[in-house]
Amino acid sequence: MSQRELEFTDELGPEKIVYIYEPRTTLRAILVIDNVAAGPSIGGIRMVEDGSSEETFRLARAMTLKNAAAGLAHGGGKSIILADPKMAKADKEVLIRAFACAIADIKDYIPGPDMGTNEECMAWIRDEIDRVVGLPREVGGIPLDEIGATGFGLAVACKVVSEESGMPLKGARVAVQGFGAVGKHAARFLAEQGSLLVAAADSSGTLIDGRGFDVQALIEYKNQGKPLCEYPHGEKHDIDAIIDVECDIWIPAARPDVVRDDNVNRLKTRIIAEGANIPIAPSAEEVLWKRGIHVIPDFIANAGGVICAAVEYHHGNQSMAMETIKETISRNTKQVFKASQEANVSPRSAAIKLATERVKQVMTFRR
Ligand code: NAD
Repeated sequence: MSQRELEFTDELGPEKIVYIYEPRTTLRAILVIDNVAAGPSIGGIRMVEDGSSEETFRLARAMTLKNAAAGLAHGGGKSIILADPKMAKADKEVLIRAFACAIADIKDYIPGPDMGTNEECMAWIRDEIDRVVGLPREVGGIPLDEIGATGFGLAVACKVVSEESGMPLKGARVAVQGFGAVGKHAARFLAEQGSLLVAAADSSGTLIDGRGFDVQALIEYKNQGKPLCEYPHGEKHDIDAIIDVECDIWIPAARPDVVRDDNVNRLKTRIIAEGANIPIAPSAEEVLWKRGIHVIPDFIANAGGVICAAVEYHHGNQSMAMETIKETISRNTKQVFKASQEANVSPRSAAIKLATERVKQVMTFRR
C-alpha cells in the first residue's frame, strides 16, 4: 500500500492492495481485499481501460457491506483488469488466465463476474484455479443473470416496502431504467404480483404506456437483441424521459450516478429499489428521503446476485439460491425500513450502520 492509499484505511480495512503486472501478456490489474473477518472475500473482476486503486477500494468496500448485510460468511474484495473489454476473445482469454495464475496464492479472494467479464471468463479461471463464482451451468454454476437472481431480490425488497408503507403491489405502476439482466427480471417478478410496467428505458430511449406492457412479450422482444425504441407498442421518448415518468416504483438498473442534485426533483414515485450500484448521489438520496420517497439502498436491494454466487460456491442449487435470496432480502429490507423510521435517518444510513455492525461483530472473533 502506498502512503496515499493508507488514507483509505479505517476501522474495517482495506486489508490488502495488490498490483499485478505480467510483462509477457501485458496484464495490468489491481486487487483490493477489504475485509475478510467473515471469510474469504467475494467480489467481481471488472475489465475497464481506466481504473484506480481508489475505485477498486470503493467497490471492494461496497462488497464488504453487501456481503455482511446478506449475512454471508464472506468478506469483500474487488479487482480491476486494466484493458479494453471489447478486445478479441482469444486475447481476453490470455489476460484472464494470466490474472487467475497471478492470484492463485491469494486464497482470501474469490473472483466473480462484473462489468466486462462473464461466465465464460469464470470458466477459464476455474480451469486455472479452484476458487471462482458465477460459473456456467455446465460446470456447476447457477446462471444468475439467466434466472434473474438480482431482479428477483429487487421484487422481494419492493414487496416488503409496499407492505410496510401500505401500498399494494397489485396495480402499482413500475418504471425501469435499464432493461438488461437486472431490469427485465425485476419487471417480470413484479408483474407476477400484479404490478404494471408503465415505462422501461434502455440505451435506445424510453418506452411508455400508462396502461402497462405485456412484460413477457417485451422481454422476448429484447432478448432478440432489438432496441426498446423500435418496439411496436407504446410511446417513444428520449433516454432521459424515464426520470419524469409518474409511477409508484422506480427501478434504476443501468448505470451509476443517474440521479443527482440537478434532476432528483423530477422523480415522481413512492418507492425506489436500487438495482444498479450507486445509481443515486448521496446528497440526492437525502433529498428523496426528506420528500418521503422510500429508497431501498443498492447493497440491500441488489444483493440477489452475490447471494446466488455464494450458494453456488457452497455447492447449492438454483432453488436454494432463490429461497435464500427471498429470506435474506426480505429480512434485511424490513430491518432497514424499521431502523430508518425509528432513528429518523435515511435508509442508507440505517443500512450502513447495520452492515458495519455485522462486520465489526465478526471482527471480534478474529485475532
Ligand atoms: P446489462 O448490461 O444486462 O443491462 C444494462 C441495461 O441498461 C441495458 O438494457 C442497456 O441498454 C441499459 N442502459 C445503459 N445505459 C443506459 C442509460 N443511460 N439509460 C437507460 N438505460 C441504459 O447489465 P445488468 O447486469 O442488468 O446490470 C445493470 C446494473 O446493475 C449495473 O450497474 C450492474 O453493475 C448492476 N448490478 C448487476 C447485478 C447482476 O446480477 N447482473 C447485480 C448487482 C448490481
